[in-house]
Amino acid sequence: MSFTSWQMVEVGKPLERTEVPIPTPGEGEVLLEVAGCGVCHTDLGFFYDGVRTKSPLPLTLGHEISGTVTAVGSGAEQWEKKAVIVPAVMPCGDCDVCRRGKGNICRIQKMPGNDIQGGFASHILVPASQLCEVPLDDNGCPAGDADITLAELSVIADAVTTPYQSVVESGLGPEDTAVFIGLGGVGGFRAQIAKAFGATVIGIDVDMDKIAAMAPYIDKVFNAGEMPFKELRKAVSAFVTEQGRRPTEWKIFETSGTAAGQNTAFGLLTFGASLQVVGFTMDTVDIRLSNLMAFHATARGNWGCLPEYYPSALKLVLDDRVKVRPFVETFALDRINEVFEKSHHRQIKKRPVMVP
Ligand SMILES: [Zn+2]
Ligand SMILES: [Zn+2]
Repeated sequence: MSFTSWQMVEVGKPLERTEVPIPTPGEGEVLLEVAGCGVCHTDLGFFYDGVRTKSPLPLTLGHEISGTVTAVGSGAEQWEKKAVIVPAVMPCGDCDVCRRGKGNICRIQKMPGNDIQGGFASHILVPASQLCEVPLDDNGCPAGDADITLAELSVIADAVTTPYQSVVESGLGPEDTAVFIGLGGVGGFRAQIAKAFGATVIGIDVDMDKIAAMAPYIDKVFNAGEMPFKELRKAVSAFVTEQGRRPTEWKIFETSGTAAGQNTAFGLLTFGASLQVVGFTMDTVDIRLSNLMAFHATARGNWGCLPEYYPSALKLVLDDRVKVRPFVETFALDRINEVFEKSHHRQIKKRPVMVP
């Protein structure tokens, strides 16, 4: 018996379809039949930009995985036949930082498609201890108000949960204004999460399609490409005042993963503001870091999301308070090289989900 996986063999070389013998789960492990695996900017970074994976090549990429457990190792029997989401970052749970609740920085964490084999495959072997169960209804569909498939729910791992933790850590509440720079992928979900937390939400992008897609879900959108930065800042400020919100302490979220977006995000800092960085780029920016001091502001990043936040992030989606379906597009896994190429050239506006 074998399963199919698409392996990265060399930077920039098409992924290769390979047949791998189906492994038997060891102690505390489960074998999943993959339902869907989201394509993330990070996968493209490994593939096109030569960002090094922690595990040597060849490696199967993909870290936004949902699926159904088809075999269990000893100690993981309770996961038999369960529908699950695999956290994109799985802390060990046992080291010094993990015991202090800081699993995001666990040095022996496991990330599929980086530390271990990833989800662009028909099956995957994963540790069971931190899986997030997806409740199913009588028809075997994800239970809840949202019209969504298990495959589409794969984007919870990372695209929804990483922003979720950053929103939680920003301390965002109903009195606050949240400003999002970058509305594609992760940004689109995060803006909706902020809305679900009751905040006034402003989105900024330079891509008209992304702006149009996001507009119905948040309070105000701005096209940064249409005005000089100073005008943009004034317009954001005017909108906040108009809404009767505080002129201080904006929660600014950088989700574009571009140098231009990072400059915009930093430039929007105001008194007591917080800047949350999730988007990644290898590019550098030229900023006056002392503004943090002058504004008594804070800046922080977050790497992945703690597995304990997954059930509440999943609930927002199943309750239909954060809509996933309008922002994802499913493709047959066999089209992965084409999807990588199109995503790289920004020809796919939604989050692609590969379905084996
Ligand atoms: Zn990712
Ligand atoms: Zn640890």
